[in-house]
Amino acid sequence: MQGQMMDFQLTITAILKRLKQMYSQVEIVTKTPAGTMHRYTYGDCYRRVCKLAHALDRLGVKLGDRVGTLAWNTYQHVELYYGIPCIGAVTHTINLRLAPDQLIYTINHAADKVVFVDVTLVPLLEKIAPHLTTVEHYVVIGAPPGCQTTLPNALHYEDLLAPEPDHYNWPELDENTAAGLCYTSGTTGNPKGALYSHRSQYLQAMVGGMSNGLGISSKDTIFAVVPMFHANAWGIPYTCGMMGIRQVHPGPHLKPADLAQLIQDEKVTMAAGVPTLWMGLYQELKSKSYDISALRMLLVGGAAMPISLTQAIEKDFNITVLHAWGMTEMSPAGTCTGVAPPGETCEEGSYWAWKTRQGVPVACVEVRIVDDEGNELPWDGQAVGEVQVRGPMVISSYYNDPSGDTQFTKDGWFITGDVATMCPKGSMGITDRSKDLIKSGGEWISSVALESALMAHPKVAEAAVISIPDQKWSERPMALVVARPGETPSKEELLEFISPQFAKFWLPEEVRFISEVPKTSVGKFDKKVLRKRYAEGSL
Ligand code: ADP
Repeated sequence: MQGQMMDFQLTITAILKRLKQMYSQVEIVTKTPAGTMHRYTYGDCYRRVCKLAHALDRLGVKLGDRVGTLAWNTYQHVELYYGIPCIGAVTHTINLRLAPDQLIYTINHAADKVVFVDVTLVPLLEKIAPHLTTVEHYVVIGAPPGCQTTLPNALHYEDLLAPEPDHYNWPELDENTAAGLCYTSGTTGNPKGALYSHRSQYLQAMVGGMSNGLGISSKDTIFAVVPMFHANAWGIPYTCGMMGIRQVHPGPHLKPADLAQLIQDEKVTMAAGVPTLWMGLYQELKSKSYDISALRMLLVGGAAMPISLTQAIEKDFNITVLHAWGMTEMSPAGTCTGVAPPGETCEEGSYWAWKTRQGVPVACVEVRIVDDEGNELPWDGQAVGEVQVRGPMVISSYYNDPSGDTQFTKDGWFITGDVATMCPKGSMGITDRSKDLIKSGGEWISSVALESALMAHPKVAEAAVISIPDQKWSERPMALVVARPGETPSKEELLEFISPQFAKFWLPEEVRFISEVPKTSVGKFDKKVLRKRYAEGSL
């Protein structure tokens, strides 16, 4: 027997209508490239989204066409986030930090018909434009009058919008219509595309707003530092639209002092980004005086948050650190430390043990861990296995890329490539990415755990641990450490500091001091580069 419910489609258009109807007074604030503040409301945004929709029609953008955005977090990017999918086209958020050949690859692979580009990023696009085979129009955002570019068929965003009406008859879209396309950062091989549907974006927006998820509401002001070109800024622009949450966008201004100033001036209550951002912000807040009393929560994900940093932020500034895990392929929500389930025995009442882990699966995400043969492992906090997930926000294949098919099991689960333990009530503890794991004398060593322990040392700014070949043990851990300014820690003192926490064979074989840990396009430690440097003998 079937339920007797209305056939209502879960679309971004439904979010758009809601933000217009209910939240038209709520503000969206952007720090422009010039450094001035731009302020307008969801009502203003809605009217410009309508104009954009007409303009896209005029440019010949049709159902299913891909439209690229090469842009920072700005109000114009928010407009594109709504205007493009709500006419039935697909927003391809281009990762502006990819290497030029990967940028060319993703734009050609997506077959973008139009690309919207921030004026500050035009030089980047001009260099690769001759290699882009599908783009018919480039639209420059924020260009001053008379701005020239060598991009063919270039238009100005404001000129494009100006003549259009500020109302639009939105098409009734099926919720499974493609809405967004986001490529992984390509840490191995070419980037792979995750093609989201309206339904997955709608659910991601809802999950973000749940109190066991991010626990945010229209009382908040959200500062999305996580880029809109990376995993849809974790769904924040849609969660904010759905819940009527005031948004603050940094544009290209991502230095710690810029972040601290915006948090203070705009009375931000929640900020979201990768751990490396918060390392910089913490130093800034400690060294200068800011009024950040409105800030109640930092959402941290994309890489393991060192517990020492969580403790420092929570204790020194009375801010809750919400640790979350996810992937581009998961829209991206996976797990989060919002609220611990009653009876989660692994943590044994320890608040910091709970915070070190990545939290419990959010609604709409199922998790299992498996051994090398694919057998499901128990949730006992001990068994270590590869994480597999499924749910309505998880991709079922990569976009036009059969080379990614090996990431899916025959029984319909996505193989994340992460390795973790699960506690009885679902708290997940990532020990590594499978490619970063160290297998020494047949036993696994977690690079994440070693890094977190090293970064708790007061003389250490950053630490990355990689596997190096060893004749006797096959692999051994090597730590690459960045000292805090003015400090010169020794190998011996670091090993002594962490040794109480680990079995002896876990302790890094070698410790080397470097000036900076290389970062990926989204600000994570890039261990692939470190391994390569080691192999070349240049570490
Ligand atoms: P990329 O694969 O290009 O880095 P993603 O942002 O999709 O892009 O990365 C997802 C991966 O990031 C996860 O598979 C996991 O390895 C890592 N990750 C994300 N959040 C966390 C976290 N809180 N703790 C540890 N690792 C994390």
